[in-house]
Amino acid sequence: VKKIAVLTSGGDSQGMNAAVRAVVRSAIYHGIEVFGVQRGYQGLLNDDLRPMDLRSVGDIIQRGGTILQTARCKEFTTPEGQQRGADILRARGIDGLVVIGGDGSYQGANKLSKLGIKTMGIPGTIDNDIPYTDYTIGFDTAVGIVVDAINKIRDTMSSHERTSVVEVMGRHCGDIALYAGLASGAETIIVPEVPYDINEVAERMKHNFAKGKRHSIIVVAEGAGRGEDVANKLTELSGIEARVTVLGHIQRGGTPTAQDRILASRLGDFAVRQLIEGNSGKGCGVIDGELVTTDIDVVTSTKRPFNMEMYDLALRLSQ
Ligand code: ATP
Repeated sequence: VKKIAVLTSGGDSQGMNAAVRAVVRSAIYHGIEVFGVQRGYQGLLNDDLRPMDLRSVGDIIQRGGTILQTARCKEFTTPEGQQRGADILRARGIDGLVVIGGDGSYQGANKLSKLGIKTMGIPGTIDNDIPYTDYTIGFDTAVGIVVDAINKIRDTMSSHERTSVVEVMGRHCGDIALYAGLASGAETIIVPEVPYDINEVAERMKHNFAKGKRHSIIVVAEGAGRGEDVANKLTELSGIEARVTVLGHIQRGGTPTAQDRILASRLGDFAVRQLIEGNSGKGCGVIDGELVTTDIDVVTSTKRPFNMEMYDLALRLSQ
């Protein structure tokens, strides 16, 4: 490969900029020309590419969001759109592409790979819903934001006898709820991966209050239901007032943690080196500290395993 491009796609996440920076600087280090595609696959179809130099990615490692912006693009999900995307890259002499995004973005990269463009996927999403990597870029920051928010909610909650229901993001994945729940001492963690009985949640709450607990935190992953519904039901069943907080998009903003920046830097550089070695159609990840690649076909057709051990631990410690 002589010329590559990089794009960010799908939902943005903290650390995407650090990944873009790593891709650009690693490519230049290896003597490869690199282009930034503005606004994901939509920008690709608009031929919205610009050459990136060392300075173009200066002062962004600490910034949330993505300087390349992101978009969702319907046209690119069609075979015609994908062919046009491959043609646009080829016309510019670009034979490699690094895609930073989630599941859908990976599938787009895979289509391009089958059309002869070498592609590498980097997991950029706060949801941690991509398998074959322990963590996705942005997850650590998002969990930190949730924990920070729950600390604040706790301060005011313990002054009253109340339950606080906190709804967090994660799409169909319960990892943000699980990690943030464990880290903030939540009494109950409701995730899409584990069936739950609201009567049991209410009973446990009543039991714990009877044993002297003065407040309880219930974390609800958006994939498992609406925090408001859970709060209403709990108030009705237990007689203890439950207040709901929906954290929303603040979970996707702010400066990335050191861990997310390090993950992004390692994965960005690794993706470039994989392209140089001639690999294509792979998702990059870190498992037990080691950099790994996995066929995108496999990544996108596998459901991420849920950490039941951690879930049980959180429950055991929450009495
Ligand atoms: P996140 O999970 O953070 O939202 P994502 O990458 O899963 O990220 P999507 O909206 O699913 O977000 O995908 C981003 C873009 O990738 C889509 O707008 C579309 O252009 C492209 N894409 C999604 N699915 C496919 C597919 N099956 N084939 C080709 N392109 C796809």
